[in-house]
Amino acid sequence: MAQAKKAVSKTSAKQSTRGVARAAVKTYQNYIGGKWVASESAEMFENINPADNRDIIGRFPLSTSEDVNAAVNAAQEAFDRWRQTPAPRRAELLFRLGEILIRNKDKFSADMTREMGKVLKEAGGDVQEAIDCTYYTAGEGRRLHGFTAPAEMRDKFAMCVRQPVGLCGLITPWNFPMAIPSWKLIPALICGNTVVIKPAEDTPLSTYNLVKACEEAGIPPGVVNLVTGFGEPVGAAMTNHPALRLISFTGSTETGRIVASACAERNAICSLEMGGKNAIIVMDDADIDLAIEGAVWGAFGTSGQRCTASSRLLRVGNGADPKTDVGPVINADAVEKIMSYINIGRNEDGATLACGGKRLTRGDYANGHFIEPTVFSDATADMRISQEEIFGPVTTVIPANSLEDAVQIANGVRYGLSAAIYTQNVNRAFRAMNDLYTGIFYVNASTIGAEVHLPFGGTKATGNGHREAGTQVLDIFSEWKSIYVDFSGKLQRAQIDTVESPQ
Ligand code: NAD
Repeated sequence: MAQAKKAVSKTSAKQSTRGVARAAVKTYQNYIGGKWVASESAEMFENINPADNRDIIGRFPLSTSEDVNAAVNAAQEAFDRWRQTPAPRRAELLFRLGEILIRNKDKFSADMTREMGKVLKEAGGDVQEAIDCTYYTAGEGRRLHGFTAPAEMRDKFAMCVRQPVGLCGLITPWNFPMAIPSWKLIPALICGNTVVIKPAEDTPLSTYNLVKACEEAGIPPGVVNLVTGFGEPVGAAMTNHPALRLISFTGSTETGRIVASACAERNAICSLEMGGKNAIIVMDDADIDLAIEGAVWGAFGTSGQRCTASSRLLRVGNGADPKTDVGPVINADAVEKIMSYINIGRNEDGATLACGGKRLTRGDYANGHFIEPTVFSDATADMRISQEEIFGPVTTVIPANSLEDAVQIANGVRYGLSAAIYTQNVNRAFRAMNDLYTGIFYVNASTIGAEVHLPFGGTKATGNGHREAGTQVLDIFSEWKSIYVDFSGKLQRAQIDTVESPQ
C-alpha cells in the first residue's frame, strides 16, 4: 500500500542526480479506448529494478481518477459490441494473444525479472502461466456451458445461460506480474466483459506487455484499458466507480477489506484473493530430503532448481544471473517490513534464529533490496512470526506432537490459501487432506505450483468464496440468466396450477 516507487514530474526527472541518463529511460503510457495516452496529470512514476536501484526501467503515468473515468467510458463504449461478438470469435483473438505471448516469452521474462526481481526461470514460469491461462480459457469460447433443466409445467422449457457481468475493474499485486493479470483479464474477456486494469505500482511493465500483446492480437479498442498508478487514487477510484459492475482484486487482506467495503456500499460484485500463511506438515515417516527440498522451494522460491538437503547454500543475487537462487525483495518498504519481522522473531517472540536474518548490503548487494534466506526454529504457534504474513524469505519451524496437533496449528491462522503434508502413510495424507481448511492442498509437494485448469483461491481471510482459474473463474466473470420458454399457448402458473399426471 505504501508508495514505494518514486513519483516524478516530467521536469524533475530530468534534474535527477542518479547515475542513469534519464533521457534514455523509456516513457510508457496508459491504454484507453485503443490509444496510448499520457495521464491527465502529466506526471510519471519510476519503475526501478529491485536488484539495482540505479537501473530505472521506465517511467509510467501517475494516473488520477480522471484517467480512470476516461478508461471506464472507453470500456462502456466498447461493451455492447464485444458482448455481442460470438464467444468463439472472442476466443480466436485470445488464441492469437497466446501465440504472441509465446513468441515474446523470453523478452517478457527478462522484463519481469528486471522490474520484480524473481529469478529468470521463475519469471519464465510466470509468463508460462499467462500462456497456459490464455489457451485454456480461450477454449471456453466454444463451451461457456449453461444447462437445461426439466420444467414443472408441461410444454415449458427451462434453461440457464451465462451472460457477461459488464464492466470489470481488475486490480493486481506485484508478485505474479503477468500471471495474475492474465488470470483475471482472459476470463473476463472470454465471458464478454470489457475491463480497466490497474497493475501494482512496482510492476507495471509486465501488465503493459500483456496489454500491448492484446492490442497486437486485434482485441478491439476499449475492450482492454490500462491505467497505471498507485492504490490511492487509481485503485480507489476504480473500486468506487459506479459503472464498474465488478472489482476483481488480488493483494493484501488489509487492502482487500477496503475494496470489499467500497464495493458493498454500491452493490458491486467483488472477488478477492488475499494474503496467506501456508503450512507444510512434515511427518516422521516422510522422505526427509524430499520434504526439505519442498520446504526450501516453498519458502524461498528457488526457481525450480533442485535443492538438496538442509546444508544446501542458496545463492542470493540479481535474478537475471542464472546462478542466483533467491532474488531481491520488491522494494525498500518490503525490506523494512521483513527485517522488522526478523527482529520480532528474535526479540519479541523469542524463536531461535537457525540461519540467515541479515540484510545484505555490501558489494553487489549495495544497490538492491536483498535479505538472507532466514529460518526460525523452536517456534510456537502463537508467535507473531507463526501467525502473520511476512511475505519475504523467512520461514518458521514449529514442532508438533502429532498429526492432529499439526493440523490444529496449520488451521490456527486467519488465512487459508494452501497447505501440504509430507508423509508415506496414505491414511495420514487423507486425514490431513480432509481436515486442513485451505483452498489448495498438496501431498508430498510444496505449497506452491498451482495449475491453471484447477480452481485457485483460499478460505477465511484469504478470499471471499470465489475461485480464479479452472472453469470456476467463469462464475466470477459471468452471471447466470435462467430462461423459461412456455410453448403451451396458455397461461400456466408455476406452483399454483395443478399438472395432471398422464393416465
Ligand atoms: P497490496 O494490497 O498492497 O496492493 C495490491 C493492489 O491493490 C495494488 O495494485 C495496489 O496499488 C492496489 N491498492 C492499494 N491500495 C488500494 C486501495 N485503497 N484501493 C484499491 N486498490 C488499492 O498488495 P501487494 O503488496 O501488491 O501484494 C502482496 C499481497 O498480495 C500479499 O498479501 C499476498 O499474499 C497477496 N497475494 C495473494 C494472492 C492470492 O491469490 N491469494 C496472490 C498473490 C498475492
